[in-house]
Amino acid sequence: MANALASIGKKELEDIIKEDGRAELVCHFCNKRYQFNKEELENILKQI
Ligand SMILES: [Zn+2]
Repeated sequence: MANALASIGKKELEDIIKEDGRAELVCHFCNKRYQFNKEELENILKQI
């Protein structure tokens, strides 16, 4: 699922962290809802 978030792109991820500090996404594969807090978003950002 982190891969789906990574596909948003680094720039947009940085904006989300700055503006909201968290993100909620619905997985396109299983329709599950995932919530990411600031710490998790920053970890994903490091991996991009
Ligand atoms: Zn899924």
